[in-house]
Amino acid sequence: TKPGSLTRQNDHLLHRLYDLQQQFHHIPQQSIINLATELKLPISQIEGVVDFYSFFHRSPRGRYDILFSNCTSCGDLAMMQQLCEKLNVSPGNTRADGSVSIDATSCIGMCDQGPALLVNGRTITQLSAQRLEMIASHVEAATPLDQWPAEWFRVQDNVRKNGLLLGTAFDTGSALSAAINMEPEALLAEITKSGLRGRGGAGFGTGMKWKFCREAKGDAHYVICNADEGEPGTFKDRILLTSHAHAVFEGMTLCGYVIGAQKGYLYLRAEYRYLLPELYAVLSRRQQAGLLGAGILGQTGFDFDIDIIVGAGAYICGEESSLIESMEQKRGIPRVRPPFPVTSGFLGQPTVVNNVETLAAAAQIAIHGSEWFNTQGSDKSDGTKILSVSGDCTTPGIYEYPFGVSIQKILDDCGAENVQAIQVGGPSGTLIGPDEFERKLGFEDLATGGSFMIFGAERDLLAVISNFAHFFAHESCGFCTPCRVGTSLLKNGLDKIVSGHGTRYDMDEMYRMATLVKRRSHCGLGQTAANPVLDALQRFPKLFEERLLHSEYAPHFDLDASLEEARRITHRDDAEAHLS
Ligand code: SF4
Repeated sequence: TKPGSLTRQNDHLLHRLYDLQQQFHHIPQQSIINLATELKLPISQIEGVVDFYSFFHRSPRGRYDILFSNCTSCGDLAMMQQLCEKLNVSPGNTRADGSVSIDATSCIGMCDQGPALLVNGRTITQLSAQRLEMIASHVEAATPLDQWPAEWFRVQDNVRKNGLLLGTAFDTGSALSAAINMEPEALLAEITKSGLRGRGGAGFGTGMKWKFCREAKGDAHYVICNADEGEPGTFKDRILLTSHAHAVFEGMTLCGYVIGAQKGYLYLRAEYRYLLPELYAVLSRRQQAGLLGAGILGQTGFDFDIDIIVGAGAYICGEESSLIESMEQKRGIPRVRPPFPVTSGFLGQPTVVNNVETLAAAAQIAIHGSEWFNTQGSDKSDGTKILSVSGDCTTPGIYEYPFGVSIQKILDDCGAENVQAIQVGGPSGTLIGPDEFERKLGFEDLATGGSFMIFGAERDLLAVISNFAHFFAHESCGFCTPCRVGTSLLKNGLDKIVSGHGTRYDMDEMYRMATLVKRRSHCGLGQTAANPVLDALQRFPKLFEERLLHSEYAPHFDLDASLEEARRITHRDDAEAHLS
């Protein structure tokens, strides 16, 4: 594909497939063939894309397609079961009359206001028994979604603690006005001096990334804002895009100014599709104000535009090279690196991929200067971090702290008592117990992309770890064997122990497998997928030991249960052919 060839985003494959999914409640094969002709793409490429993303289906879903979050913070699968019973449909299936399908999906980013679900892609939060009852009535009455109570679809920001970024007013255009008074080199120097590091979790120096990209040769340069926050327990980008979109877009434009890009893309996770109308409205206002387009703020040669691409349900697309593959209308399989995106990214051109929070911070730094930013924070972690706090506390929501804050301080602020464990940085992060609550947030101690999940003493922590293992097994893209097979084996091993059939052998085997998955996987997903299991084995061994059988070994594989399908197909069920 040539640089610049993806200009009309209405023609983006993911968007066209989304429209088909809405129209037919699945993607018909004939539509794939038609689309292949129209978009001049191989049929196999489109089929591959349809099969890759969770929100596209080859077989019909219901006219109401309901997906319950399966996250430990915003999910409630018991509620899913209740709605299934009310509507007479089994989980994962579509009712015979085609009216409704109900299933579970990975975290939908509503961890501060769960339980939550998506219906035809729209979010309903704060589910209750009464709300489920009414949802069932509306489905049975075939009430159009637009006539369901509007307050059900309202999503709150829930900002509990402001800091440097959330608490400083941002005048639209002010970062750009400050920037054009400096040469791009001077702005780059200021960003570098601020010590700003990527807020997605990995913490690569933002100034360094921009510099590498600026120096890379290419026909075009690109800026991508990674708004595909899919880590369970994370929802801070949702708030930034809801209430601070100007700062985010301005950060993207500044990055374009520094690296010499004329085009930026916001890659938005599908679960936040409800934000699109307002995001487009903000972009349009920015165009009218001369803050986007040709000759920004009247400066000849400063041209920059932004488009939005919406994902389709794939956690792996939060990994920058997968995200770029997805933007190029392909399956989101992580690339082999090097080359890194800064030299060979979108369409093979130099590309900066930055997190939403990073770009919003860059915009504020352009206005207030590097010192304003780096006087807060710790030695190796300048500035503040926005946290998504969820789980067992009285006030879940958004909290912004200078790096270096202790875990205990956060727990005190959000009203968490009698805490058993915290998952810092989401399932791919670190699981810690009370003896580590004096540890500090920061790249030198506990790094985090922002997820902060609290588990009280009443929680079945092993069930939580098992939930995370199921998440990774589901989200593994399948490209490399250690992750594809290893995450499934870890999931099975945990299921076995949770159900009371595990032995010490299984614990040892799980440790061996978790270490292998961590060391041998191709990308960050696999390299971190085993973290919850390893952390739990190391810090909470009793959780496992209490559930172990006394025997040394019990088979992993339930042969009798596995024969069930053969019995069904052959209509034979001989009593003697059952294993005790
Ligand atoms: Fe895919 Fe997992 Fe391998 Fe990453 S580690 S490439 S997600 S299979």
